[in-house]
Amino acid sequence: MKKVVAKFGGSNLKRKEDIQKLVRVIKTYNRPMVIVVSAFYGITNHLIQSMEDVKQDHSNIEKLVEFLRQLKKEAILENFDDKEWQDKTLNAVQSRIKELSRYLTGIHYIGDVPEFVEDVILSYGERLSSLVLTSILQSNGIDAEEALPESMPLVTDGEFGNATVDFDVSTENVQKRLSANKVYVVPGFYGVSEQGKVTLLGRGGSDYSAAALARCLDAESLDVWKDVDGFMSADPKLVKVPQRITHLSYTEAAELSYFGASILHPRTVEPLKEVGIPIHIGNIDAFDGSVAPRTIIHGEETVSECIVKSVTYSDDFCILKLKGAGVGLKKGVLAKVTVALDKAGINIKSVITSQIAINLLLSARDIKRAYSIVESLDLSTVTELIASEQISTIAVVGEGLLDRPGVAGRLFMALAKKQINVQMIVSGASVVASYFMVARDDRDMAIEAIHEEFFSC
Ligand code: ASP
Ligand code: MG
Repeated sequence: MKKVVAKFGGSNLKRKEDIQKLVRVIKTYNRPMVIVVSAFYGITNHLIQSMEDVKQDHSNIEKLVEFLRQLKKEAILENFDDKEWQDKTLNAVQSRIKELSRYLTGIHYIGDVPEFVEDVILSYGERLSSLVLTSILQSNGIDAEEALPESMPLVTDGEFGNATVDFDVSTENVQKRLSANKVYVVPGFYGVSEQGKVTLLGRGGSDYSAAALARCLDAESLDVWKDVDGFMSADPKLVKVPQRITHLSYTEAAELSYFGASILHPRTVEPLKEVGIPIHIGNIDAFDGSVAPRTIIHGEETVSECIVKSVTYSDDFCILKLKGAGVGLKKGVLAKVTVALDKAGINIKSVITSQIAINLLLSARDIKRAYSIVESLDLSTVTELIASEQISTIAVVGEGLLDRPGVAGRLFMALAKKQINVQMIVSGASVVASYFMVARDDRDMAIEAIHEEFFSC
């Protein structure tokens, strides 16, 4: 029997009583499976901040240790009735936190956080979740075992902070380690390099961990549990009648995630698409005793009646514009810029060029640094450098979008009717997505206008 891999994220672990919801869902599956968990809500950010604090002042180690100990203690008291189980779990938590405090002591004394230590420290949010959940499942009579990625090992390409799983090396390891008919609980967010060093899989990377394990195990499905109703036709806060999307193709889901739909990490689809493992999105807050998904993501590419399946947005696309007569015709400009940004570890999300301007789409966190780097290159062909931050990127996604005449016309007419100015448009780069930029202030109105145009069809 194939296994199911189920992932529970930080949004499922906000309050101490939330763990009972996980237990209920896992009991309902009633089958051997692999559970991947994230850190409790906000813990990774807390650890990031603590690393900084600890560098300055030794007493911050004790503060963090106490904070985590208290948090876990409350969860343990809430979720175990039996005193013996409580004590056993508290002790295990205590020694795991002790491991963490050793790394923190190290960074305090050297006054710096080497990247290989940073990755280990940040993995502790997940490690604490998996430990506590395993124990709670066991006390509920479930045959559960914690399986750390290093015990498999789940091997990555070794890039700290943003590693990629090496399936050639990992597949057999994972299959062997997770072969028994029990419930394995795996902390998400990290794997290990070939040398055995912890390497994080990028922020929000537990979805990707779960996808990687599902692929290694040739799982029946990857079930991602959320606190929302699956993928929607638009952010329910912005439109009057949002519709749930019951089916999406892999490409549609990947594009929606890339352009801001926070349901799934953009890298989740990548390992599963090739092998055709479906992704199921469940809503833990609407759990009614059935694990039937709210949205299914799979290989079938269907064109919906409205063509557009969803409209999404991201405020994390800024534009760095390099203006100059003929930049589009001169060779080497783009090469110099991309090499310099790559050296600085800056990812370019997209490039849109014309004869008189090169537009680089960059993350908000990188835009200021990128501006200085490009400025310092002293490119003779570039006469003006402009950074635009107050913009939003809106993407409409749906199979068949590019093949059907009239879709772009309807889209931009809907915006024009509301007097919304479109600053840049990209169509054709992806077969299922068109995206464009508007002023940040126009974002909500633009989404509403497009949604009304396509979802009242
Ligand atoms: N806890 C990690 C983060 O906040 C991973 C995750 O939540 O998926 O980035
Ligand atoms: Mg997450």
